[in-house]
Amino acid sequence: MPVKVSEDWLNACSGCEISILNIGDPLLDLLPQLEFVHMTALVDHKFFGQLGDQTALTLPEATVAIVTGGVRNEEQKHVLEEMRKRAKILIALGSCAAYGGVPAQANMWKNEDIFETVFRKSITTEPAADPKDPNVPPWTPTCMAVDEMVKVDITIPGCPPHPDWIADALTAVLEGKTAWALPERSVCDTCPVIREKKSGGGAIKRVLENLDFNPEEGLDKMRCINEQGFFCMGPVTLAGCAGKTGVPRCIQARTPCRGCFGPIRKGAKPMVDMMGALTSVGLDPKTLVDRRAIMNRYIGGHKNLAPLPARPPR
Ligand code: SF4
Ligand code: SF4
Ligand code: SF4
Repeated sequence: MPVKVSEDWLNACSGCEISILNIGDPLLDLLPQLEFVHMTALVDHKFFGQLGDQTALTLPEATVAIVTGGVRNEEQKHVLEEMRKRAKILIALGSCAAYGGVPAQANMWKNEDIFETVFRKSITTEPAADPKDPNVPPWTPTCMAVDEMVKVDITIPGCPPHPDWIADALTAVLEGKTAWALPERSVCDTCPVIREKKSGGGAIKRVLENLDFNPEEGLDKMRCINEQGFFCMGPVTLAGCAGKTGVPRCIQARTPCRGCFGPIRKGAKPMVDMMGALTSVGLDPKTLVDRRAIMNRYIGGHKNLAPLPARPPR
């Protein structure tokens, strides 16, 4: 009997769904053992009956539920709760589901301030009242990771997550396992560049100027990006973006890691650890432009980002 899988996107961009398809040939091996009973992105299965004639969500029961995206509105919260109720194993797929992702940068502002900016203060917008349409679900107070709302059994991080790990986690489930996780090691642990544990020191350079490397030479001849004076999140980011083999994807492209796989372990404080990593090679973390947003770019859920208290008048 195939294992029933239900999949839905919450506050998501569909890149995670593309990663499922990008499993490629191994997906063909897995498919006979899986039955996708709900997948909004690919299967025509509607929320309130195929004719829209039901008043309650008609999500099917499944052994495995996969959700992508965090929770940003009441409808997403409802769909997530119902998927959790109807599944034995819940997989949070992608960094939006795992940590809030890029959309959770919005947690740096209160909702009312965001509406004020978007509908009234933006220079490209005619000032208008907040739209009030009963068919548009209201926002939740913050943009949350999935495990802030319901129990998550398996987390597959990444923006997007690597197809190898989706196939690996699904294979583990098919073998009867209820847990799966990437090994706790950093992007730096899998990076082949030259490290001397020191930089030129001082202010962090913006990536508006080129890194120093010879495109004719391998990465093992390139100096560490942090040590070149740029900001690279490799020291505090979970390894795995290149799948089962290979060099971290951004480093392959000779650009800094931006932290898309999230923290190396649950409960880590990447911002604090990253400040330490920069200081250890002689760079001044205070010179990083917009450092709170940059160091929490993918992990604004879990209360990592919140509005700063108003400064008292001078
Ligand atoms: S984790 Fe990345 S690819 Fe997946 S939904 Fe979020 S933004 Fe899109
Ligand atoms: S800081 Fe960046 S460039 Fe340097 S070793 Fe780590 S991942 Fe590689
Ligand atoms: S190098 Fe960093 S930002 Fe780039 S894909 Fe890998 S984990 Fe994500």
